[in-house]
Amino acid sequence: MATGQPPPTQPVKVLKLVDEVPGVKSLYLSYKKKDISYRAGQSFRLYVDPDVSKNIFHPFSTASSPTEDYLLFTTRIREESSFKQAFRKLLPGNELTIMGPGPGGLALPDDSSGEVVFLGGGIGITPFRSMAKFATDTGLSHKITLLYSSKTAEDIVFRSEWKELQERNPNLKVVYTVTRPQEGNPKWNGRIGRIDSDFIRQNVKEIDRVYFYIAGPPALITALGGVLEDLKVESQKIQIEAFRGYI
Ligand SMILES: Cc1cc2nc3c(=O)[nH]c(=O)nc-3n(C[C@H](O)[C@H](O)[C@H](O)COP(=O)(O)OP(=O)(O)OC[C@H]3O[C@@H](n4cnc5c(N)ncnc54)[C@H](O)[C@@H]3O)c2cc1C
Repeated sequence: MATGQPPPTQPVKVLKLVDEVPGVKSLYLSYKKKDISYRAGQSFRLYVDPDVSKNIFHPFSTASSPTEDYLLFTTRIREESSFKQAFRKLLPGNELTIMGPGPGGLALPDDSSGEVVFLGGGIGITPFRSMAKFATDTGLSHKITLLYSSKTAEDIVFRSEWKELQERNPNLKVVYTVTRPQEGNPKWNGRIGRIDSDFIRQNVKEIDRVYFYIAGPPALITALGGVLEDLKVESQKIQIEAFRGYI
């Protein structure tokens, strides 16, 4: 049962809206650090209509880290979604409302001796950017591996940032796999196929010492949960953020 008051709503301001990869946009928001404190991997409700009583919101994981001066939400723009059509029209200076952070969310383990493995696909990468950026900025010693699946090489979200983070953080390893290389440009020379148990075994040495994290649409969560079940990973070693609302 939920207890206590819901977190208060807070005003935020659009700094910029940028195209990330085809069909995916990132919204940068300025916020008052003294009023909003969050942990890497948590989520907020974003209201696109300034009139909060209309209740037009979606929950989003923060892609930003608390070490950054802005809040970052990244999402897939769908033509059929009225929320996303309002989102795509946001302009610098627009005032919006957020509520949160919501309870729970993903969190890096306090114990930094076990390896952390993020499994994500498509838009299911936002809380991983948040946690990897936080770990890098604050010098945490967690060994982090991101195994990330996208349709083509052009669909890899935050690709240049992952490169930069790996250059800064020797404990961070990122491995991509692409499911439809023939549709992409430039040509893909990396791994092809979905995230499966072989791919995990190839990249993770001691699976029984690992904390696994899964984020993304429910279908992805189900598929990756099945892969971890095949690998006999104990459920208490798995953290999940299901992006409910996607199918
Ligand atoms: C904790 C949490 C964190 C989240 N973090 C993120 C995040 O970082 N980034 C992000 O993009 N989303 C995130 N989501 C999901 C987000 O809140 C929206 O639900 C999602 O973006 C879909 O919104 P929409 O406006 O596109 O779909 P909606 O317009 O809200 O969906 C309307 C209807 O369309 C259906 N539908 C949804 N997707 C599709 C599709 N691809 N094809 C056909 N029909 C579809 C839905 O089932 C629904 O019936 C998160 C959700 C939660 C709970």
